[in-house]
Amino acid sequence: MSDDIRMSDGMRSDGNKLSNHMWTGRFYNDGVSSHDGLLDKLGEECGVFGVFGHPDAASLCYYGLHALQHRGQESSGVCTTDGSGFHYHRGMGLVKEVFDNDKLAALAGSSAIAHVRYSTAGESRLANAQPLIFKYRGGDLAIATNGNLTNAARIKEELERQGSIFQTTSDTEVVAHLIARSQHDDIVLAVKEALLKVDGAYAFLIQTKDKLIAALDPHGLRPFVIGRLGNAYLFASETCAFDAVGGTYYRDVSPGELLVLDINSAGMKEDRFAPIKQRAICAMEYIYFARPDSDMDEINVHSARKRMGRQLAIESFVDADVVTGVPDSSISAAIGYAEQTGIPYELGLIKNRYTGRTFIQPSQELREQGVKMKLSAVRSIVAGKRVVMIDDSIVRGTTSLRIVNLLREAGATEVHVRISSPPFMNPCYYGIDTPDRKQLIAAQKSVEEIRQAINADSLHFLSKEGLLSAIGRPEGETNRGHCTACFDNRYPTVITEETEIGCGCE
Ligand code: SF4
Repeated sequence: MSDDIRMSDGMRSDGNKLSNHMWTGRFYNDGVSSHDGLLDKLGEECGVFGVFGHPDAASLCYYGLHALQHRGQESSGVCTTDGSGFHYHRGMGLVKEVFDNDKLAALAGSSAIAHVRYSTAGESRLANAQPLIFKYRGGDLAIATNGNLTNAARIKEELERQGSIFQTTSDTEVVAHLIARSQHDDIVLAVKEALLKVDGAYAFLIQTKDKLIAALDPHGLRPFVIGRLGNAYLFASETCAFDAVGGTYYRDVSPGELLVLDINSAGMKEDRFAPIKQRAICAMEYIYFARPDSDMDEINVHSARKRMGRQLAIESFVDADVVTGVPDSSISAAIGYAEQTGIPYELGLIKNRYTGRTFIQPSQELREQGVKMKLSAVRSIVAGKRVVMIDDSIVRGTTSLRIVNLLREAGATEVHVRISSPPFMNPCYYGIDTPDRKQLIAAQKSVEEIRQAINADSLHFLSKEGLLSAIGRPEGETNRGHCTACFDNRYPTVITEETEIGCGCE
C-alpha cells in the first residue's frame, strides 16, 4: 500500500464532491503558543466534545468547546454528519475566532465531534488541527482525541516502512492508519483492533457518516464523561461542557470501554475493547487542569481543591495575616487553607484577564515583564502583612520566584509558599506538556534549596497521601485509582526509551 488513507480537505465530503487534495500544512503563528511561556505552568492537553442525535449538533459543539477552551487554545474544530457525509471546519485559534454564525450554519447534521487543541507532540499548524478527517475504503472517518500515545513513533515507523504516507505529525493519524489497515470491514471491530495496538492515555471520539464511537484508554488516564440532552447523547472531557449546553451528566466512561451510537439503531451500545484495569485518572486534573465547576468521577474539582488546601494547612500551618492564592487554579485551595486556619483569605494577587496572547518570544527580560502583565499584587492587601501564598505546583520555579518578588515589592513582610501538590519531579508521557526532568526544579533541588531559589520565607508541599485523601477517591475501591507518576515516578503503563524520546501531548 502506498496510500490506503487520505486526509480530506474542504467543507463537504459526500462522495463525488470529496476533495482529494491534501492539507498544505499552512503555518500560522508558528512557534508561538497561547501558552506563551510567560507563566511557568504545565501546558493543558486537549478537549473533546461530541453530540449524537440533536438537530443543533454544531451549535452545541460550539458552546461545549467554549467551556473546554482552558484545555487548549491553539486550534478548534467541529465535524458534523448528516447521515450521508461530513461537514467540517477547523482553524487555528480560539473557538470564538475560528467559528461564526455562517460557519456553524454550514455544519448540518445531528451528530458531531469537536476538539480544542494544545499541541506539544505534533506541531502547531492547521494540518494537525482536529478533528482529523480521513477517507478510507470504508468511507469517511473523523477522529478527535485528548491524550498521548506512548508507542506512536514506533507504529508510525512500521507503517511508513510498509508504505503508509502520513499527512500530519499528530499521533491521532496513527490510529486512523491502523483502522484503515484492519482486516475488519466493521468499523467497530476495526477500531477495537487499532486501540489494542496503541499504548498511552487517550479519550477518542471517532465518527463515520452514521456512527459515533467513544473510547477511553484501559487505565482511564484522561477524564471522559457521558451526558444527556433530551434524547441526545453528549460526550466531553469535562462535565462543565454539559452545563454550557443545558445537558446533564449521565456517567463517566470506564477505562477500556467503547461506546457506540448508530443512526440505524436506538440507544447506546456499551462495549469494551480492553479488560477492566485499576483506573489511573490523572491527579493533576484535580489539582490544576480541570475547571473548578467540573466533576470527575462525581467529585467536584473546586471542592477537592479546597480539601487540598485544608490538608495543606493541617500538614504545614504557619502563623500569618492573610492567605492568598495564585489565580485562577489555586484560589480554591487558598480558600480551604484559610478556612482550616482561620487566617483571612484575601485577593492579594489579581490576574489581568485581558492581556490576550502575547506574540513575543519571551526573552528573560520580557518574561519578567510578562508576569507583571498577567499578575498584580494588591498593595493595600499585602503591604505590612505576613502572607501565605498558595500555588498548585512548582514546575521550573521561575514563576514562583517572580510572584514572591511581586508580593515583596508590594510590601509583604513575609511570604510563606504552600503548594497544594507534592513536588513535581517526573515528566508526563500522557498528554501533559512538561519540561524534561533536568528543568523540573523539584527533581534537581531539595525543598530547602527550592525555598531559597524562590526567595520564600518558608515552603511546604502537600504530601501524596494528603493529596489522595483530599481528592476523596479511595485507592482501594475498584476503579478508583490515580496516576501520580509526576510525583512518585510510578507510571501506570510501561515507559520505554522510545516513550521518553517521543514524549509529548497530542
Ligand atoms: S504523570 Fe502526572 S500529569 Fe501525567 S497523567 Fe500522570 S498525574 Fe497526570
